[in-house]
Amino acid sequence: MSLIDLHTHTTASDGSLTPSELLKLAYEKGLKAVAVTDHDTLAGLPEAIEAGRELGVELVPGVEISAHFKPGTMHILGYDFDFKDPVLIDTLKKLQQGRRTRNPRIVEKLNSMGMDISMREIEDLAGDGQIGRPHFARLMVDKGYAHSVNDAFDRFLSKSRPAYVEKFKLTPVEAMDMIRQAGGAPVLAHPFTLNIDNGRLEEVLTDLKSAGLVGLEVYYSEHNDEMTGGYLKLARKLDLAPTGGSDYHGNNKDEISIGSGCGNLDLPYQLLVDLRKKRKEVG
Ligand code: AMP
Ligand code: FE
Ligand code: FE
Ligand code: ZN
Repeated sequence: MSLIDLHTHTTASDGSLTPSELLKLAYEKGLKAVAVTDHDTLAGLPEAIEAGRELGVELVPGVEISAHFKPGTMHILGYDFDFKDPVLIDTLKKLQQGRRTRNPRIVEKLNSMGMDISMREIEDLAGDGQIGRPHFARLMVDKGYAHSVNDAFDRFLSKSRPAYVEKFKLTPVEAMDMIRQAGGAPVLAHPFTLNIDNGRLEEVLTDLKSAGLVGLEVYYSEHNDEMTGGYLKLARKLDLAPTGGSDYHGNNKDEISIGSGCGNLDLPYQLLVDLRKKRKEVG
């Protein structure tokens, strides 16, 4: 069976492998297609496409966008857009600026809690990539302020924890419009992070679908069988394409492997075929 992974991060955002290294790993794993879905940036795509071409792995252009939602966190994935689209590029610039405004404020909060952490150190860690909270978490682990990346999030960086700082976000409709006007397919990522029950999720998905949502990330590293089953049922009921991905971040989330997630993923190429079919249907 031909396998795929539709959710991965590179050094262009908060992953630890370069796009070429990630494609090589996908090739070694025998994946047929992989989507690079960095946070708020398309910067990794040209290198990923080139590496994919050389290795014979299909690269699906992707992006992951944070959108306003309460009580939890909403991420919207976009696939198969024109990555030269000016509206897309311009909107992403605003999101990137939002990160640049937020990041020093996280440093200030950590400093006020007695942690010796500077913006310069975070920038060195992120290199040319989009800075994200995992970079803060990793530095906190390196400096002994947290036991692990998860610990840094649980005690300091997660929403409602003391070093959390909001950043500029799009509404869900704005995020989906941005993706769709560039020809892409919007998909709701890891639905459990919305932090709502499946009854409420059905209402949210119904609204999102009427505003252009095409798919639901049913298969995901952190979904157990019961969650996967529930999401698959919802996707079928609401006529959303079920998709899946590992959310591979390299050693920034070292329990997750590309393609196989936490050992729970086995995603057939047909998911990508069906997503593309559904995108065409909705026009
Ligand atoms: P940001 O985009 O800077 O707000 O950071 C969000 C990223 O942090 C997510 O995409 C995940 O990669 C990571 N993240 C969020 N929550 C956790 C957590 N509890 N443990 C580890 N990583 C997390
Ligand atoms: Fe991430
Ligand atoms: Fe995400
Ligand atoms: Zn992700």
